[in-house]
Amino acid sequence: MSERLRAMFCDHLSIMRGKYLPASKMRDDESRFAQPNFSVHYDKDLLLEAPGTKCLEGLPDMALRWKAEEIRPGWEPATKVVLGDLYQGDGTPLPLCPRGALKRAVAAWARHGLTPKVGIELEAYAFTRNEDGKIVPYDNPGGVVYGTGNFTDPRRFCDAIWNKAHEIGLPLDLITAEYDTPQFEFTLTFDTAVEHVDTVVLFRQMAREIALDHGVILSFLPKPIPGKGGSGLHVNLSFTDRNGQNALAKGERGDPDDLSDLAHGCIAGWMRHHKAIAGLTAPNALSYARLQPASLSGYWCNWGGDNRNVTVRVSAEGGKKARLEHRMPDAAANPYTTVATILQAALLGYEGRYDLPPKETGDGFTGNDAGHGVAASLAEAIDDLAADTALSAAVGQGLVDNHIFMKRAEVEKTAALEGDALRDWYIWYL
Ligand code: GLU
Ligand code: MG
Repeated sequence: MSERLRAMFCDHLSIMRGKYLPASKMRDDESRFAQPNFSVHYDKDLLLEAPGTKCLEGLPDMALRWKAEEIRPGWEPATKVVLGDLYQGDGTPLPLCPRGALKRAVAAWARHGLTPKVGIELEAYAFTRNEDGKIVPYDNPGGVVYGTGNFTDPRRFCDAIWNKAHEIGLPLDLITAEYDTPQFEFTLTFDTAVEHVDTVVLFRQMAREIALDHGVILSFLPKPIPGKGGSGLHVNLSFTDRNGQNALAKGERGDPDDLSDLAHGCIAGWMRHHKAIAGLTAPNALSYARLQPASLSGYWCNWGGDNRNVTVRVSAEGGKKARLEHRMPDAAANPYTTVATILQAALLGYEGRYDLPPKETGDGFTGNDAGHGVAASLAEAIDDLAADTALSAAVGQGLVDNHIFMKRAEVEKTAALEGDALRDWYIWYL
């Protein structure tokens, strides 16, 4: 097979789109796509009125631009991969570009001399198709929480993912089985924000493609099986200062009762914008089946120490390892948009010197002192986002307006679906 370049971007639906291009494109270059890509829905419906997409202005091109130095090994034979940023026909950045929104958020923190460091944990369920074509959970009756080996993964698709990730330099920290079966967790080594999210979207796509080669549909949907645990995309965050030190740290231990000003500001931002953050980071019709009390996900507007039942967890590790974990997002969200949202809400809290409510004292099962959670449905979460003008402007009004329009359409499209039918409406794409 001759050498080729697979140039890609992660769109508003968290779908990877791209093209195979000849080896001559392996340099600083671009490729053009129709801007109305951002009007397309999961069911392939083209929504002409979607803001910022120019469907009714001749469906013009946008350009995906990349740098030679960002070209990296791919997982297919003779194929390198690259991610880029999207620009409009007049050469200005496309406001809808999720990677662009993340770059803006990183630049906003750089004004304080701080570089965000991000580490993402991905959870996913495995499915197969039976003889009738019906999608059914992967058969691993011997699977257990923290399971490894072939009782947990009889087809050994996780081994293939592990090996390929290491062969091509995608830094995987761990693969394990989650509490429910057949659910798996993949954690990638933390890095600067854009570089890390690039790795995450490539890893997620690679994992889905390798799983499919093994007859497995690996789904990052937030709640694909009613009654079993949800799948999250937990975001771990720290910052380095100009001297390369961890700026979140105060002491050698992570102590929720002795936070640095930076940690205080970030958590305060997340608490004040809690409901609107959901609209961007949990943007799926199944997200609100996952985000429920006592689900170890980010339902409640609360924070605490080493406690899996609060939304924001202050790691017990301090010093160089000091970090905050935000547990609300799920992998149906665009990971660039998710991290941009987490960073911008934190910055609003830090710059605005927001007050921080007291830490949670309840155990999350038998009681809570958090006053409220997130919305009960995607429709309400999108209303909460629309009402939060400060967060919307910070993330990028153009991106948020398109998101609100497309998600309101998704609410209508999925309203009559439930159970397996709702899951299967999404499953080939997420
Ligand atoms: N599966 C849980 C979620 O939906 C998280 C479980 C954990 O890893 O602590 O976020
Ligand atoms: Mg987990």
